[in-house]
Amino acid sequence: MSLEGNAVQFGLLPVTLPRETCSVEAENTLRRLGRFPHTDSPWLPVSTLGPCVIFAHHSPKSNDIWGVPSCYAIRVAISQEQYEKIRKDLVMRLSTTPLPQHNAAEQTELPNLQAGDLASAFRWVIENYPFSEDEAERLSMLYTENFDKNGPLDRESYNGIMPSLGIALQYISQGPSFLCFNPDETPKQSQFPSALLEKHNVYPLYRGDHKVYLLSAEESNFAFEDEWLSHGRDPVDFVPIMADARSIRNLISRNSSTMEGSAGIEVKKSTLSLSDSEGLVQIEPEDMAEINPQNLNHTPEELIHWVLYSAITGRASDLHLEKYYNVARFRARIDGRLRNIYTAPEEMMQRFIALIKNYSNMSQTRQEALDGRFGLSIGQRRVDVRVAAIPCRNEMQKIIMRFLDKKDGIKELSELNFSQRQSMIVKRVMSRDQGLVLITGPTGSGKTTSLYALINSVNDEGINIHTIEDPIEYEIEGINQTQIDPTHDLTFSNGLRSLLRSDPDVILIGECRDKETATSAINASLTGHLVLTTLHANDSLRAISRLLSMGVEPHLVGDSLAMSQAQRLVRRLCSYCKQPVAQTPQITELFKRQGVVRENPDAPIYMSNGCNECSGTGYNGRVALMEMAEMNSEMSDLIERKATQTELRQTALKMGFQTLYQEGLIHVIAGNTTLDEIKKVSYTAF
Ligand SMILES: [Zn+2]
Repeated sequence: MSLEGNAVQFGLLPVTLPRETCSVEAENTLRRLGRFPHTDSPWLPVSTLGPCVIFAHHSPKSNDIWGVPSCYAIRVAISQEQYEKIRKDLVMRLSTTPLPQHNAAEQTELPNLQAGDLASAFRWVIENYPFSEDEAERLSMLYTENFDKNGPLDRESYNGIMPSLGIALQYISQGPSFLCFNPDETPKQSQFPSALLEKHNVYPLYRGDHKVYLLSAEESNFAFEDEWLSHGRDPVDFVPIMADARSIRNLISRNSSTMEGSAGIEVKKSTLSLSDSEGLVQIEPEDMAEINPQNLNHTPEELIHWVLYSAITGRASDLHLEKYYNVARFRARIDGRLRNIYTAPEEMMQRFIALIKNYSNMSQTRQEALDGRFGLSIGQRRVDVRVAAIPCRNEMQKIIMRFLDKKDGIKELSELNFSQRQSMIVKRVMSRDQGLVLITGPTGSGKTTSLYALINSVNDEGINIHTIEDPIEYEIEGINQTQIDPTHDLTFSNGLRSLLRSDPDVILIGECRDKETATSAINASLTGHLVLTTLHANDSLRAISRLLSMGVEPHLVGDSLAMSQAQRLVRRLCSYCKQPVAQTPQITELFKRQGVVRENPDAPIYMSNGCNECSGTGYNGRVALMEMAEMNSEMSDLIERKATQTELRQTALKMGFQTLYQEGLIHVIAGNTTLDEIKKVSYTAF
């Protein structure tokens, strides 16, 4: 019988899962709610939905749900093939840390709740679910805050307290007749244009023979169905599957942020705007859905738009256009690596170059290295594109485009994933009324993101913030920004001198390139200003010797420096396919040698694998590693008497300093990245 037929017979939802493992959250929830299974082919925990566990089986007759109270168990049907693979993964995981034979929660009996009485369901869950004390307290607090502000909570408000909580409460109160699912566990699709899905906030979860199971936050989707049918398509029976509205939105943007995606963008409200809108190139997501890049009947302009669109929605930071053998090749840098995203016949090359140069007001001469820029709008989103043209052999040229950050915009400090120790340092440093803050790291390590987050955290009307930058990437309300302009003799160092006359409290200097700038920055930081700047150095402590080697007096550095920070980006493990690896004595030894303590030394670490969700790379997005060296009197003394790196490091370590590599190991323990990824920062290890 087909998966769908099998599912329908048992009143279940048919699903093809994007993962063939049990998610980390599902495993943790199972350890809390369940016990060892009693049969050989139990339902398999695959994911979670709020506090509930999603179980999957290919033969829904089984009754074994690991002792999890059935009100917390959401069941879906999967193929036998997926079942076997997930089972294998689970057996392996549970063999390292087995489950208990009994669980206290098993006898939990659900009172009679009225379907849809979310408030009673919430109260009951808070009292009966094995939350930790902190969690229960936090949830109750959020509930009360919400209630006091807006009165009784609806499903979406509960979802705001904890993802999918409102959906789970509805399920708990209504039982299995309420079909619902977690959008995070939905595979990619290409049948429906993203722009249409985005408009109605729905997403096809499963396509059956006659039905399409549609994730939606509403019971009825007439507007979507009308629009879908109005294009002359065959009628489809849509079955609504209830889900968290915000998670559906994330799913749609995740689906369109891949190269296979056809259209769609994330619309995000932001406090900033691009520095100007001159020469704006507009791209409509709806038009892009109609373009088949393999079809050369499209105009070169349409193709360029499609390439820009695909690169930007695919999270690229740069786009290269170059001749390669006899083709024009576009490569996009995604998560730090170049990937080929489009090739066209060589004849198109000159047309593409001419168009891009035209957008950015550059001259069409071939033998000159040129710089330019243009603005791009994609739906609601604005992107600033910096363009460089470089002459190459045989009268060819190469074009490099850099997309300036972009949909993330300015982060709040809370979005930078600081550890407790790091937040305390940042808080102390940013509340000082004077001092120097250095940030180091290679190009593309997220320095700008950190700097903006730091100054934005103190941005209020009582403080005068002035920056001098090259380039100004974004305008931030309430901050005075100056662009350097060497042709009019406005440099970092003389610009700094003049901005000191504008009575600033906090100063951001884009880059400290020479002795003059460094000295003026330090003088400013000793005369009642908090000064932030970036510097080229390999790590946070070497930044200090870099300043000294630029010719700045050691006692000035010692007196002014508040914190030196180094950072790097490493790739984030794909949460759908990461694989736990068993402990080896080498790994245990490595953590021990590095002095990184693991709360649970038996907990697995993960390695990369590769699946559809991550285009087979095993990674998705990036994680910032931050090494922070906060200064104190002992460190200042060491700097003043030109102490060695080793002395500085030993003293810093006594104060709890952690190297980039140790920061990396902490992210390995958290399952965010791999030992392989953090190898490149291992030279900072000791
Ligand atoms: Zn993956």
